[in-house]
Order: sequence, then C-alpha cells, then structure tokens
Amino acid sequence: MFLRELTMSIDHIRGAGPASIHALANAGITSVANLLCRYPRDWEDRSKTIPLKDFRLFPVCTIIRVLAHDWFSTGNTKTLKVYVEDDTAQAALVCFNRSFMDKQLLVGNVYRLWGNFYYKFGEIQATSFEVEAVPVSGSGNTGKQSVFGRILPIYPLNTGLSQGMLRKFIHQALTQYAGPIENELPQDIIVRDKLFPKSKALKAIHFPESLEELEIAKQTLIYEELFYLEVLVGRRSMERRSAMGNRGPGKEGSEQNLIHLSSLQQRLLDRLPFTLTPGQQEAVADINRDIDYPYPMARLLQGDVGSGKTLVSFLGALRVIEQGGQAALLAPTELLARQHAETAARLLEPLGIRPAFLTGNIRSSGRLGLLKSLGSGEIDLVVGTHALFSRDVIYKDLRLVVVDEQHRFGVVQRQAVMAKGEDPHLLMMSATPIPRTLALTVFGDLEVSVIRDLPPERKPVRTHLARESNETKVYDFVRNELAAGRQAYFVYPLIEADANRSLKDTETMAERLAGVIFPEYTVALIHSRLDEEDKRKTMEYFRRGNIRVLVATSVVEVGVDVPNATCMVIEHAERFGLSALHQLRGRVGRGAIQSYCFLVYSEALTEDGKTRLKVMLENADGFVIAEEDLKLRGPGHIAGTEQSGYFTLGIADPIRDAARLEQARADAFTMLEKDPDLSSPEYQCVAQVLSRTPPFGNVGL
Ligand code: ADP
Ligand code: MG
Repeated sequence: MFLRELTMSIDHIRGAGPASIHALANAGITSVANLLCRYPRDWEDRSKTIPLKDFRLFPVCTIIRVLAHDWFSTGNTKTLKVYVEDDTAQAALVCFNRSFMDKQLLVGNVYRLWGNFYYKFGEIQATSFEVEAVPVSGSGNTGKQSVFGRILPIYPLNTGLSQGMLRKFIHQALTQYAGPIENELPQDIIVRDKLFPKSKALKAIHFPESLEELEIAKQTLIYEELFYLEVLVGRRSMERRSAMGNRGPGKEGSEQNLIHLSSLQQRLLDRLPFTLTPGQQEAVADINRDIDYPYPMARLLQGDVGSGKTLVSFLGALRVIEQGGQAALLAPTELLARQHAETAARLLEPLGIRPAFLTGNIRSSGRLGLLKSLGSGEIDLVVGTHALFSRDVIYKDLRLVVVDEQHRFGVVQRQAVMAKGEDPHLLMMSATPIPRTLALTVFGDLEVSVIRDLPPERKPVRTHLARESNETKVYDFVRNELAAGRQAYFVYPLIEADANRSLKDTETMAERLAGVIFPEYTVALIHSRLDEEDKRKTMEYFRRGNIRVLVATSVVEVGVDVPNATCMVIEHAERFGLSALHQLRGRVGRGAIQSYCFLVYSEALTEDGKTRLKVMLENADGFVIAEEDLKLRGPGHIAGTEQSGYFTLGIADPIRDAARLEQARADAFTMLEKDPDLSSPEYQCVAQVLSRTPPFGNVGL
C-alpha cells in the first residue's frame, strides 16, 4: 500500500472525536494520508539541556525552581510574573493572559522549562514558554506524551488546531497505518543514497529519535518529491520530443538566428518610430520558429521591466493571425488589460487587425456583440483578464495564448484559457525572473527566451532615499519636474486611513497633494476599490497628460506604461517587498527622459526594511534584485510562485535543494530513457505510483 492510498477517513484513527475531526477537516485534513503528509514546519530539540545563561544562543531547555510570584498592572488587568532559577541564572516568566499559572507553578517546586528568553528591564525574561512538572522518578509513563526530553515536531497550525492535537493524532495514525506503507522510490536509489524506507522516513519526519535520523528522513522525502516531479517533467518532454521528430526548436535556434518576418509583422515594424532591440529580435525569431513548427509552442519570455515584451507578444499574435488563427492576451489586472488593448488598437488596427478588450463586467454593453464576433472569427486578438476564460467565451480558432505577468496566474487559470483552443501556442511573459536552471527543471521542456537589453535611449532611473521628515524636499523636486511638463506617481501602502493613522494612505494624501502641495496641478487617485469606469478614465487622462500626478496603491505596480511620467515617489517604501519596489520603479524611466525614484522611509526601520532599501539603491537589474530577494526571504520564495502553483511540493524546495533536484532529474531521465514503459521489476513501484493517482496535480504547465 502506498501512502497516497491511505484515503480512509481520519475517523478511523483511534481517539479521534467529532470536534477534532471537524477541526482537522477545516484545515483540509480529511484522510489518513493527508494527516501523515502534514509535515512539521520545524523541530525543537528538547532532548538536551540548555541552561538559562545560554538564553542568547538557543531556546532554553532546563529544570527550574520557582522562587516567587509577583503581579504587575497592565491597563486594567493584572499580569503574573514568576521568578525562577536554574543552576546558572535567574529569570522571569511573564504570564500574559495566563493568570492560572499561579496554580501551576508553585513556589519552591521544580519544573521542566522550555522557552525563548530575551534581556529586558534588567532581567532575563520570556513570555513564550512551556513548563511541565518533573516526573517523580520511578513513576513511569503518565500516559500523556511529554513535550520534553525529545525532539518535538512543530506543525503549521490553522484555527482550531493545536500542536498537542496534531502530535497526538499523527502519532496514533503512524502506529495504526505506517507499518505496511511501501516505498515509492526504486530500491537501488534508496541503497545508493542511504535513504530510509518510506515508512521509516514518515515516522522519523514526525518523531525523530535523533537529529541525524531527522536529516535522513528529510532527505528521503525531499528526494522522493523531486524524483516524481522530474519523472513527470521527463515524460512530458519525451512526448514533446517524439512529436517533433527530435527537431528541438531550441537547437535549431542557435544555428539560424535570422528572423523571417511575415508581412504583417514587417508592416508593424515599419510603422514604429524605433527598431527592435537585439533581445527583442531574438525573442521574435524564437517565437516565429516555434509557431511554424507542427507542435504547440511553450515558451517563457523573460525580460526586465520596460524591456518591451508587449511588442514581442503582438508580433507573435500577428503571425498566428496571418495564418488564419486568433490570439488571446491574458493580463492580471483590468488596468493592464485595458492598457494592452489600447496599445493593440493603436498599433494593430491600422494594419487591418481587429483587436478587442473583454472586460470582466458581464453587464457591460457591447459584450454580447463582442462574444459573437469572437465566435465568428471577426476579432483577431482579444485582450482581457480572467474574463477570457469565462464559460460564455467561445473562440473560432484560438491559436496563441499570451499570459502577461505570468507569475500572477495559477496553473488552473492558464489551463482554462488554453482549453479554449485546440492545443494553442503558449507564450508566458514575466519580469520576475526565475533562474533559468530552475525554469528548465520545473517546466522541463519549456523553452526560455530572455531579453537582456533595454531600448537604447533609456537612462537608468536615479534612485534616492529620503527620510519621512525630509519629504518636503522630495515634493519640491517633483514640483520642478511637473513644471518641466513631466508627470509623477505617488504610491502608498494603504487605500484609506487606518484606525491609528500610523501610515499614510492614498485618500488622505490625494487630498493633501491636490490641495496643499501641488495646487497648481491636477492630481487624481487610483486604487482597486474604485469602479472600473473611473479607473479607465483616470488612466486615460493620465496617459494623455491631463492628469499630472497619480496617487495610487501598488495597483500601478504591474505593466503600466506612461513614458512621460518621470517621478515615482513611494512613501513608507520599507513596507513594500523587493519585487514590488522593482516593479514600481519600472513605471518610470520608460522613455528617453531622465527619471527619478524616491523611496521615502519612516524612522522605525527594521533590519530587513533597511536591507531592501539598500538593495534598491544599489541595483537596477531585475535579475540581481530577484536574487537578493531570494536571499532575504529565504529559499522557496521566488516572488509569487508559491501561491500561483508552479508546483505543489510539500517538503522539497527547488532552490534550497537544487543539488538534489539535479540528481533527481538525472535519475528520472536515465530511468525513462532506459525503460520508457517502466516495465522492468526495479521500476515497478514507479509505474504503480504513476498509475494510481498523479503524484502532483500541479506540476508546470
Ligand atoms: P515590459 O517588458 O515591461 O512589458 P513594455 O512592453 O510595456 O515593457 O514596453 C515598455 C515601453 O518601451 C513601451 O512604451 C514600448 O512602446 C517601448 N518599447 C518597446 N520596444 C522598444 C524599442 N525597441 N525601442 C524603444 N522603445 C521600445
Ligand atoms: Mg509588461
């Protein structure tokens, strides 16, 4: 029996009452397999003594004697403080909302203590701690599992769940079911890498007897996930290769980098006031080649903000349109979709192409007519948000799907658009770089084009940091730019004032900027809660220059393109993540005029906040910033990938575990080449696992 086959309900677990079953179900845990796959997020080693004096280095794990109780007032309530000591130091346990502790911690008695201590008001204190009576020697097992003297799993919690509950049920489930769980990895790999059998790995990931055992359990489960990920990637890649008769478009690319432009493409380029950058040319050549192959394209187009990806996608669209098909461009926000639709109208209508903008607003006038023309093929290119895959949207012959800012979308959404055509070509675009190796490893056969250059006349944006108290200087600078005919963005973290008014918000600041700071210029407000028509008008006036200052939330983060806007002022900049800051800064510097970005920060800066601002000040390259972001946020947080379902991995992390991933890829690909049908006995388990249920529903495309 494989772990995934333990689909029986958790009410088969002894001791599970209705209340706990309900709480577990609310957290998405309904089967025994679900429960056992709820891996700890951390482990606390409470098997060794860490005395109070070492509180700065580790969480303390020691035996203490209670010295005294004390009560102090906080507002209307009284809080208990318990003074304790071990052989090395004295400390205070601050019992916020835990007055009952006065009955649990009796003066003179001895307890086991675990806690996170810090130095405050001249003493060593903890507010977060656990205590347990020291068992009288010889009394044996009290029936309850101790949280001391062992390595304790710490689970991710949802409301209604507690550590105690998860520990108890998982322990019981392991006892009842773990024994006969079969291995999913080929035996020779288990032996080669000295991994655990599956059932032992499961037991040890939850309740390791030593740190060494925990490490092997982790390695086993991580490797297993990565191996199956790569088996799926490998299988897809083989199918694709055989369908293309082994003529990988990627290979051909390097030999033949000439673009053969079709006549519509050429006509569009002839009308532009600029020429394509080398990076754009290469991308177009790649895309053209892909589109002309008999097999559907799957390409990721990466290029920093402002590198001109939209134009490249239009050129791709023109090619399929010229071949008689339709193209759809999916954007993450209405704002961006509308902007693309307007650009498409401006650039493509003169060529006789019919673009359309499909809004999410079902009642909007003209929608029915638009759907009809889409169904009849009169519309060649449709731009929109998720509206593109609503049920009532039918295409005549959808041959290319472009997904802009693709990291904003999940696999499911992408597939929903793809399903509107018959194996359409797919072009995904992103300014949020995924390291190339990772992209290849995760997507397997996905082709990647990278635009490394920006259009030549661009000047790097000058970035300045400003303390909140110096904001007037920033306003003065912006006033000069406005006087020179330029435009500016002001970005705030909140839409409206919060209760304690600790942060600036768009509504209050829009009023202030309009009334007091820039009374001589038009100032407008844009954020996600305004209605679509207002947003549309505001953007249109801003683009035309009738509005000079745009006050916004990070809705303007993605894609917005107004080259005359030269100032980006981000207040409370320390509140924004690196990828948001980079995207926001990318809204300026989009033409030949020198642009500026002001990062205004509050006095209370965290270390992380400080580092982020420094990274922004010192770097312009999105790839570098993305890497810094990775370092800061720790592995596994490539901007946006975790929510959007590049992959659903439980314990593996393709960045942290990059070396293992390489190994898993090599193993999986070797296996598939040697034995594509997985019919030999050593791969029997793999064949069986694959035939039961897909191991990951969400891999790649
Ligand atoms: P992104 O890659 O961030 O999506 P856009 O496609 O929005 O960038 O392009 C940014 C701006 O650069 C647009 O105003 C576009 O017209 C302009 N642009 C695109 N390609 C070129 C080029 N080769 N030379 C000059 N400007 C260009
Ligand atoms: Mg874009």
